[in-house]
Amino acid sequence: MEFIDPHVHMVSRTTDDYERMVRMGCVAVSEPAFWAGYDRGTVEGFRDYFRQLTGFEKKRAGWSGVQHFTWLCINAKEAENVSLSREVIQMIPEFINETGVLGIGEIGLNKNTKNESLVFREHLDLAAKLKELVLIHTPHLQDKYKGTRMIVDMLKERTDLPPERVCIDHVEEHTVRLARENGFWCGMTLYPTTKCTPARAADIIERYGDERIMVNSAGDWGPSNPVSVPDFIQEMRRRGHSEAKIRKVVYENPLEFFGQCQRFKIEKRK
Ligand SMILES: [Zn+2]
Repeated sequence: MEFIDPHVHMVSRTTDDYERMVRMGCVAVSEPAFWAGYDRGTVEGFRDYFRQLTGFEKKRAGWSGVQHFTWLCINAKEAENVSLSREVIQMIPEFINETGVLGIGEIGLNKNTKNESLVFREHLDLAAKLKELVLIHTPHLQDKYKGTRMIVDMLKERTDLPPERVCIDHVEEHTVRLARENGFWCGMTLYPTTKCTPARAADIIERYGDERIMVNSAGDWGPSNPVSVPDFIQEMRRRGHSEAKIRKVVYENPLEFFGQCQRFKIEKRK
């Protein structure tokens, strides 16, 4: 089955991963900006990273026939450096109109600190000003519920960011309702150990339905599996769900969310 991986950090993966993904039906990936494995020291470091995301990475994906989309921001892990964060936020407009850029992300909270909240709000100001989509990272494990609550509260204060243009990612059983009841899109991350397994993601779909929800692999530096969306497809089939329902979650929903960005265009295979 054709699928889109709406959140995967391909910069940290190999070309062989693209090949495996394509063999399993991947037609497109969306890559949020995130951490490089170390804290970058200057705005130039980010400028080079954005050049990589909007240039070479798109080309490398193309070698395997995968369409590559991306998001721009400084991630929450590096938000403690507020002055650098502000320089990066100021620089984002240089790249925002490049082909395949979908919006601002993945922004959010990591340890739920004051500086993270400040930098999160300043990214939201930029997204509102430029009328861009927003992709949001929620914290891990014990910080998740509190962080998601804080994020939803900050988003609800705003009238300039419609909830249907915002996706709250890495939701789990205890945060999915917070995102959905407030009208946001949400993403479930399929990780081998933490976050959701394919079976837990299938349980969540069965319980909360298939509207405004996507699944992703988040493939990154740590233990992660860039072909976990196909594992979810198999799990849904094993439970007897229709092909149409599965396709909605793994293909049509990302298409609908991303389709709100004028720069998003999926190339149909011949
Ligand atoms: Zn991520």
